[in-house]
Amino acid sequence: GGPVIIVGAGHGGYQVAASLRQAGFSERICLINDEAHLPYQRPPLSKAYIKGSAGPESLMFRPEKFYHDQKIELIAGRAVSIDRAGRKVLLASGEALPYGHLILATGARNRLLDLPNANLPDVKYLRILDESEALRQIMPSKTRVVVIGAGFIGLEFAATARIKGLEVDVLELAPRVMARAVTAEVSEYFQQRHREAGIRIHLGVQATSIEAADGKVTGVSLSDGRHLPADLVVVGVGVLPNIELAAEAGLPVAAGIIVDEYLATSDPDISAIGDCALFASPRFGGSLRLESVQNATDHARCVAARLTGDRKPYDGHPWFWSDQGDDKLQMAGLTTGYDRVVLRGDPANKAFSAFCYKGDKLLGIESVNRAGDHMFGRRLQAMDRSITPEQAADESFDLKSALA
Ligand code: FAD
Repeated sequence: GGPVIIVGAGHGGYQVAASLRQAGFSERICLINDEAHLPYQRPPLSKAYIKGSAGPESLMFRPEKFYHDQKIELIAGRAVSIDRAGRKVLLASGEALPYGHLILATGARNRLLDLPNANLPDVKYLRILDESEALRQIMPSKTRVVVIGAGFIGLEFAATARIKGLEVDVLELAPRVMARAVTAEVSEYFQQRHREAGIRIHLGVQATSIEAADGKVTGVSLSDGRHLPADLVVVGVGVLPNIELAAEAGLPVAAGIIVDEYLATSDPDISAIGDCALFASPRFGGSLRLESVQNATDHARCVAARLTGDRKPYDGHPWFWSDQGDDKLQMAGLTTGYDRVVLRGDPANKAFSAFCYKGDKLLGIESVNRAGDHMFGRRLQAMDRSITPEQAADESFDLKSALA
């Protein structure tokens, strides 16, 4: 019993508070929020929000009244330490909040570029609303952007910048875009589509310095000796999980806050969820840290269920999406370790899916503009079923029959 204190009011933090109340939890809930906004959705920051003109309210999960009605105390501020013996969280303001259970939903922060001039105002990142807002506001006055990193966020931003009329160069150290996350077939498709849109993609290169004059960015130098002019640099080189609060409290951390299959840390009164959590996964083997809305919200629901008497190991089915220009990529499952890729549909028709197998086992499906295949993949996973590579490749095979 006792109050639940949640550190971090992002996707996971918001959801665990909402799910606790939904499940009838009646004690105090405090959601510690170090951003000066009501809890909001992050994915549009590099997509619809930066493209459009809707205000910050368009991103909020719920209006202020929701928190008031649900008696979820939104506490503005930062948690700076955990007193485990005294079961209290200390805030930067000096306030101490006693907890019965503590949930760490601290997410991740931008990995910063360690290059000369990387701290100039025209070098931007995209993790939080304030960063997206700042970028949206300066874009109309910019003509040439160099995007560092061809991951999801870098490419989503690059596509939007191009639509808005900027000259766009994308730098990527790996030999293909989104290399860690998707198959070569899907990388190839997106490289071609972005190039058709007029984006220059440079693979196998690194930025070595940012050039500036009078404090304004003038360009980026590359590891191959080239120099690209630019008046804006956007960095998307990944994130670092926020593990320090846990580590300083003596909780085990590695590439994330270490939790078991119930999402509990080594201290049974403290759980960790979402981007910051390195969780044991009986389904996938070993431990995983994922960065997705699905992962954060399903973690949140699992912990809320446990705290209201329904103790079950976490067994979510991963899925993800990315919107780049006119193309929608959707992924179901975890494809790590695949040894065979079967295409359904034709990339030339701008609609196809890559079914990833390890032996006969379907690990996951990457769909490009084929929402039906994606939904199929999610339902198939939930049923713990599979289809053969031959069936996957055969468009006359009715996917629905596999769900019957
Ligand atoms: P977050 O949402 O990052 O929330 C953590 C919060 O904790 C932050 O507000 C942080 O400031 C706060 N915090 C940290 N430390 C403290 C402290 N000590 N005290 C108080 N507060 C603290 N996922 C998808 O599935 N699909 C997408 O298309 C997609 N697009 C994305 C686009 C962008 C631009 C970004 C940045 C992410 C995107 N993601 C997407 C990833 C997804 O948003 C994250 O996986 C998700 O937000 C993780 O939720 P979380 O609650 O773990 O962390």
